Amino acid sequence: MKRSGSDQTKSGEVIKKAHPVQLQPPGLSFWAASSTGVAHVQERTSTEAGPDVLVTALVHGNEYSGAWALDAFLLSGLQPRRGRITAVFCNTEAFMRFDAGKPDASRFVDEDFNRVWSADLLDGPKRSTELVRAREIRPFVDRATHLLDLHSMHEPGGALLVTGMLPRNIAFAQSLGTMGQVVVDAGHADGVRMRDYGAFGDENGDRIALLLEAGQHWELASLQAARNVLMRFLVCADVIDRGDIPPGWLLPDAPPPPPVTVTHRVVARSMDFAFVQNFCGGETIRHAGTPIAHDAGEPVVTPYDDCVLVMPSVRQLRPGVTTVRLGRLA
Ligand SMILES: [Zn+2]
Repeated sequence: MKRSGSDQTKSGEVIKKAHPVQLQPPGLSFWAASSTGVAHVQERTSTEAGPDVLVTALVHGNEYSGAWALDAFLLSGLQPRRGRITAVFCNTEAFMRFDAGKPDASRFVDEDFNRVWSADLLDGPKRSTELVRAREIRPFVDRATHLLDLHSMHEPGGALLVTGMLPRNIAFAQSLGTMGQVVVDAGHADGVRMRDYGAFGDENGDRIALLLEAGQHWELASLQAARNVLMRFLVCADVIDRGDIPPGWLLPDAPPPPPVTVTHRVVARSMDFAFVQNFCGGETIRHAGTPIAHDAGEPVVTPYDDCVLVMPSVRQLRPGVTTVRLGRLA
């Protein structure tokens, strides 16, 4: 099957074309030097006590929109009225390897930075580019009362707020007042995300952690979505007031849709995996048993009625890769 944005070689292999890069790489050299002593970590501190908010971008090195949003925040001169805001550009090693001809290649150097967040790995002997950087950043993650981790997606789509399973994070995300779809998701079997690390995952704790998927990595709309959610997050965390937000940065208030709870992950068994149509995420499939894809000649069907598709993508297709998450509306 020929899909837009893809070509088929003579052998039948489907090559996904990279999406156009609308955003230039953000210039991060300005933020390299830091009073914290750790490169690309910037702090803004109020004289009044308050929450300790951490905002992270470039956990994946090719996800520009969050880095642009952080850059805009730092350039704006916006200061916290209470507490502290720490801004971190995380996987700068991967980011610096960005090649516009292979824009999907610079997601990480050695391993996924968002799968190393367990004390076992961080305290252990293993070395990788990502673990070295995670160990540098760890003290800022440990002290944070609130974490907003800015990501973006392989494919175009509306913004998603990934909350993990804890009710306090779901409620916080719903209180932001954006159209962003809340996705309740337990995480990954192959490693711990920053947003699930340590006290953020304590069900009896009170720390807040959200992960934003702002839209496609290199679209201008994703930068606007990231900046909007960043500002709303800072207001809801009570480090700034709504009136402090620079003009034009807030998108209109909107009632958030009901959260979607991820129940299944569809994992590719073969390279012969294809969706039955160009899904972009957010589609609700009415009837259980509806084919949504084929894998090695077998249909992949929805397990229940009103099944929601979350972040479908075959961009990094190989056996074992998640191609779509399936969820239920709350
Ligand atoms: Zn990411």
